[in-house]
Order: sequence, then C-alpha cells, then structure tokens
Amino acid sequence: MNRFRLSRSRPAQSGRLLRAAIPRRRDRGYSIFIAILFVLTASAFGQWRTIVIDAGHGGHDRGGVPGQRISEKDKTLDVAQRLKRILQADGYRVIMTRDSDVFVSLGARVAIANSYRDANFVSIHFNCASRVGANGIETYYYRSDSASLAASIHRNVVSSAPSENRGIRRRGFYVLRRTSIPSVLVECGFLTNPTEGRLALSGDYRERLAEQIARGIRRQPAPYVRALTPSLRSVSLGNDFVRVPAESFSRRKRSSKSARYHRSSKSRKSESSKPKKKRQKKSSED
Ligand code: ZN
Repeated sequence: MNRFRLSRSRPAQSGRLLRAAIPRRRDRGYSIFIAILFVLTASAFGQWRTIVIDAGHGGHDRGGVPGQRISEKDKTLDVAQRLKRILQADGYRVIMTRDSDVFVSLGARVAIANSYRDANFVSIHFNCASRVGANGIETYYYRSDSASLAASIHRNVVSSAPSENRGIRRRGFYVLRRTSIPSVLVECGFLTNPTEGRLALSGDYRERLAEQIARGIRRQPAPYVRALTPSLRSVSLGNDFVRVPAESFSRRKRSSKSARYHRSSKSRKSESSKPKKKRQKKSSED
C-alpha cells in the first residue's frame, strides 16, 4: 500500500511541479509576445501618433512687437504644455521643441521636427499688430500634405473662440517650409487686441485653445464652421506676417524682427514676387 501510495503520489507531486512550471514559462512567452505586438502596433500607428509641438519664441525672443505688454513666448509655451498633456493622455507621443523659457533657433526646431519622420509638427503662436483693432485667428501651412491638418486645426480653434476667422493661408514661413513632415502654424489671436489679449491671459481660455488644437490634430469635425470674416481680408496682418515686398530692400529691413523670424529669405523672395492681387485672392479662397 505504501508503495502504491508512493507511486501515485510521486507523479502527482511532479505533475504539480510541472503545472507550476509550465504556466510560468507560458506567461513569460505570452508577455514577450504582447510586448512585441505592442512595439509593432506602436510603430505602425506612429505615423499619426507622434506630434512635435513647437512653442513659438522663447528666451530672449519674447515674440510680438517691442514693448508689447503680454509676452507671446509665455503664452505659446503655456498652450503648448497644455496641448502636450492632452495629447499624451490620448496616447500620443509628444516631442516639444522647447519645454521651458529657452531660446531655440528656427534651424534647431526644424531639425527636431525632421528627426521624427512620421510625425506632424504644430507650431503655436499669438499674433500682434500695431493697430489694436486687429483681431482673429489664422492658420498657416506650406506643404500641400499639411493643408488638411491646417484646416482641421483652424476650424476647431476658430469654432470655439469668440474671435474672427482670418482664414487658412499658405505661406513659406521657415518652420513650415524647411520641415519635411506635415507642418502647421496656428496664430491663436492678437495679444495686442484688448479682447483677445484679455482672453489669452485666462488659463481657462488657453486650455480651451489647447483642447481645440488637439481636436484638430485628432481630425475631429469642428462643432460648427465660423465663416471667414470678409472685412479682414484687406486688413494688414500682424507683425509676424507682414507681407514684405521684395522690390524694396529698405522696406524689408524695416519689417519687424518677428516677421523675419518666421520667414526664410527664400520664401520672402518667392512669395513677394507673386502679384499682390493674386495673393489676396488666395487667402480669401482659403
Ligand atoms: Zn510668434
């Protein structure tokens, strides 16, 4: 009997050991499989899951016009950081060209963007103008593969803001022209305008801007489409986007620092060589 018991208990014992060992091995294999699957899936979806956020200006470059009361660099960074949190919560991989108050050259911003082959680039700015009445939101792109992203972001931002719709425009600003990934630059309102300046000072409003930009990145439809403001078509743009005529170098020299900041010399030349009428028509079409 003892022998019988022993002979039965041994296999039972070794079976238990075996059962205990096999699942551990299976678990390990399963974990590795899941990890590989995760990496493959992440890289497959990386095409639209990586966003390079570019907070305009920074460090010694405050943005805007000299003596501007509200510093543009702080507001762009704040919106960028809010956008970063929102996108990360959505599972996006977010790369910041700057995450603190430091100066980053345009070349460095572009280099960062171009090191993420399958990413989208979103540059955040606020506008300024010598005329305090100038207001509204406008969005820029250069590459044709950026047009739909620009439209998606613009429609969402404009739909939630109590600001005019200044339209979507195609311009060869440095960070749009030199980036090799879909790139958009959004001007979230005029800091020199009393109403929009006051809004920009509100954390709630900046959160809303970030949420709307995120909606645009996710390609969500805008709650409603705000019509392009016809009266703004002929209004001169803020200093970030002064149209500089190529035929007058001296006039170009007088253009603001921030206007030059956004433009490559090449783009200034090619853009300004276009007839003025045609350019105005183009922006109103957008
Ligand atoms: Zn700016």
